[in-house]
Amino acid sequence: RPREELDAVDSVCPYCGVGCALTYYVDRERGAIAFAEGRDQPGSKSRLCVKGRYGWDYAASPQRLTVPLIRKESSYPKGPLSADVRGDSHNDRGRAGAGGNRSAKLSKNGKDGRRKPGGLVDYDEVLPHFREATWEEALDLIARRLKEIHAERGPGAIAGFGSAKCSNEEAYLFQKLIRAGFGTNNVDHCTRLCHASSVAALFEGVGSGAVSTTYGDVANADVVIITGSNPTANHPVASSFFKQARRRGTKIIYVDPRASTVSEHADYHCQVKPGTDVAFYNAVMHEVIRLGLIDMEFIKARVSGFEELVRTVNEYPPERSAQITGVDADLIREVARVWGEAKAGVIYWGMGISQHTTGTDNARCLIAMCSITGNVGRPGTGLHPLRGQNNVQGASDAGLIPMFYPDYQGVDQDATRRRFEEAWGTQLDPNRGLTVTEIIGSVLKPDGVRGMYMLGENPFLSDPNINKVRKALSQLDFLVVQDIFLTETAEFADVILPASSYLEKEGSYTNTDRRVQLGRKVMDPPGQARVDWEIIQDIAQRIGLDWSYSSPSEVFDEMVELMPSYANLRHENLGLTGKLYPNEDPEHSDGTVVLFDERFNTDDGLAHLVPAEWLPAKELPDAEYPLVLNTGRLLEHWHTGSMTRRSFALDTISPVPEVYMHPKDAADRGLSHGQMVRVRSRRGSIELQVRISHREQLGNCFIPFHFREAAANLLTIDEIDPYGKIPEFKFCAIQVEAL
Ligand code: SF4
Repeated sequence: RPREELDAVDSVCPYCGVGCALTYYVDRERGAIAFAEGRDQPGSKSRLCVKGRYGWDYAASPQRLTVPLIRKESSYPKGPLSADVRGDSHNDRGRAGAGGNRSAKLSKNGKDGRRKPGGLVDYDEVLPHFREATWEEALDLIARRLKEIHAERGPGAIAGFGSAKCSNEEAYLFQKLIRAGFGTNNVDHCTRLCHASSVAALFEGVGSGAVSTTYGDVANADVVIITGSNPTANHPVASSFFKQARRRGTKIIYVDPRASTVSEHADYHCQVKPGTDVAFYNAVMHEVIRLGLIDMEFIKARVSGFEELVRTVNEYPPERSAQITGVDADLIREVARVWGEAKAGVIYWGMGISQHTTGTDNARCLIAMCSITGNVGRPGTGLHPLRGQNNVQGASDAGLIPMFYPDYQGVDQDATRRRFEEAWGTQLDPNRGLTVTEIIGSVLKPDGVRGMYMLGENPFLSDPNINKVRKALSQLDFLVVQDIFLTETAEFADVILPASSYLEKEGSYTNTDRRVQLGRKVMDPPGQARVDWEIIQDIAQRIGLDWSYSSPSEVFDEMVELMPSYANLRHENLGLTGKLYPNEDPEHSDGTVVLFDERFNTDDGLAHLVPAEWLPAKELPDAEYPLVLNTGRLLEHWHTGSMTRRSFALDTISPVPEVYMHPKDAADRGLSHGQMVRVRSRRGSIELQVRISHREQLGNCFIPFHFREAAANLLTIDEIDPYGKIPEFKFCAIQVEAL
């Protein structure tokens, strides 16, 4: 059908934090999207990666949930229902039919000879445990059971997991429901697994968890450090900005245990050993200070804690750091000189920094790196944690975190709480709630969480040590899952609500740059599936809250009233390209690119440096588990794969789970490319293919966590960072052996 006969709908990509602007061209006669095209916007400049361009057909999957489901009385106790994820505990290792031995099952052919969709919940196995229900019946049951648990066990027995896939308005309503409706701050989302440690360090250091400049500002930098991040895979369009800047002369210092296409474009690749970032950056700062390349004027005027930092980094001369990090001392000296001499530099970082038990310390070092060299508050300078999901910034801004109301206003601040109590017309809990990682642990305690409402999260695949998650989910008294597919977590649910994909509703999303954009409705939800904000409102009304929102834009207006950072924004003035916040005049301005030009957001306006000592990871390799596991994402897939593995193009390009190994590690074990192996940790085992990869360090392996049939989080450790409470997804000890 020619383009002019198609209906064009401007929206936003639903995947990564870059939030590319795009247009869907819809064939209304067929009721289907024909194609997607990038749209001009300052942060994406009409570019799209493979996910944005092709990854939308999942919404039309025949596997969409279209009717509310209630677990049958006969289907208790709960447990994982599909065979491939049933019972993979450490003790099951090697037992025929259990755990890893079942894990390859879904990649085999179905009875009809066609390849079964790889790694999806087997609907035929799971659906018989549920019966169809009306919306009235399902919502009444949810309200009744959650109210009963609340009355019997108290507010702390209820918890909610929202999602960074939610729009700002959905995230705001969800946290308001849990706080105002159930009197608890036990509400969190997947930022806990992503950048919670970065946010903890940024709040402490500069008084704001958001980025201080955009990725487009790389164009104004002489030097950038890209660290703990593989932007080509995880933020592909942002990566194109980095590569363009490199072409124009910006130097790239890449600090990462793995090589990548970014390291191939970089001027320097410091291939640190995993978990040694603090030792590396302390040595760089040691050298910057020794060479006199600090900005003393900036430090005197705008920084506190410098003397203490000097005392700490003095203990990290490059030679000592070289022994810890494996990076040559001369390279550390060279990088320090280049960073120290730069007139303008930005640090961009990813989850290789944040997903450690030292994640907050790692980010503290990056804040200090910028602060002592005056690299904050001017064009081409600053701090930028590259956000993972398309709305992880917005969902956090909207208060989907247990310690903050919207806009990071502390729940334990009396004046703040009174303001929210007045706005919401109810008494609120003065105590910080539990985080995602703490809620899972709490369910396993006798006086812990008993009832949960899960909106778009899939912790059974996304959380660390999922055998522990399995135990927790199966012990809940009541679990509601609201999602678009029958996810692994939905297998544990008492009630499953059919939700809408982002294509089927309107809402705003905030990207990694602080750009608030409108996602617009492209099509209707299938069957009886409903838009999420209406479902949340229906539950709120049933538990006695006096809500009567008529649209997402009305919700957004209420948010803006309570969120100083979003002041002046309205759906109507976001336009086609969105607006950065803060924004004095959205009618005429795109918003503020560079923050902290005069003062930081801390109470005294200063950057607070917090020195960090290097600490090793919690589980080091040993004779039984001699390799280090690093987990992460692939370009073609997204998180637990519920969307991308149902996208024909994406799953075709990347259909199978693999463990990436250094050639020598593979050769030492007699393994060849493509061979099936078992990977074991102290917590479980999985089976998958070997990929011989020159990008891995000797002794290190990489496994993406998208693949349920070889779920990487069966292996990971649930140790957490003490400040950000983020798990150590980037380091645990494993063994790989031939099957
Ligand atoms: Fe979507 Fe991110 Fe790719 Fe842009 S870079 S198209 S936001 S996945």
